[in-house]
Amino acid sequence: MRVVLLGPPGGGKGTQGELIEKKYGFPKISTGDLLRREVQEKTTLGEMAKAKMNQGELVNDDIVIEMIKHKIFQLDCKRGYILDGFPRNVGQARRLEEIEEKRPEIVIDIHLSEQALIRRLSARRICSSCGAIYNLLARNPRKEGTCDICGSELIQREDDVPEVIKERLKVYHEQTEALIDYYSRKKVYFRIDGEGKIETISDNIYSILDREIAKSRVMEAAR
Ligand code: AMP
Repeated sequence: MRVVLLGPPGGGKGTQGELIEKKYGFPKISTGDLLRREVQEKTTLGEMAKAKMNQGELVNDDIVIEMIKHKIFQLDCKRGYILDGFPRNVGQARRLEEIEEKRPEIVIDIHLSEQALIRRLSARRICSSCGAIYNLLARNPRKEGTCDICGSELIQREDDVPEVIKERLKVYHEQTEALIDYYSRKKVYFRIDGEGKIETISDNIYSILDREIAKSRVMEAAR
């Protein structure tokens, strides 16, 4: 099953992606995480991406597509995968279809009001080492400032500050939102309310995934 998590920054794609990964065993691929690693390691690619990321703009399509290509052909992606933060525009969605032959089977849009997004993004903290996601309002670590998983320091992302958040939301409306229509036409689009408890949101996502996985099994058996 190939799943795309769509939705604005701060909607909970990363958190829900982690939970889906745990429950279903499909690896989560986050282009944002991959890019942040490149920046942290000061690679050529990271140096090229850094300025755009810090301004809240999108990194060049060719760069992210190369990264995605590299990941989805790895063995652990054979049964499926979860894309978090990719595609971010219609051009990327088309390129994904070229690479993959088939479209993604399920696109889940985690929707949230602009006010809630800003609140969440400002309270978000991530692990400086493993990238695990926390939130000072809803998902605190057991020990303040420390990652529950690997014990490293929690930091605020450079793009989770008010001016950059504003730009990221603008980019979302101008470029990413068009994917709602794009995937609706392909009949693979599902919208989820991102407000409320993490568990309630993930239960809603699991219901969609279970239903769609069962459907695709029936179709496969009939072939
Ligand atoms: P995210 O962690 O998904 O919020 O991504 C953080 C930043 O990485 C974005 O604001 C972009 O600058 C860059 N980025 C992540 N995914 C993509 C993508 N698919 N296309 C272009 N830029 C991306």
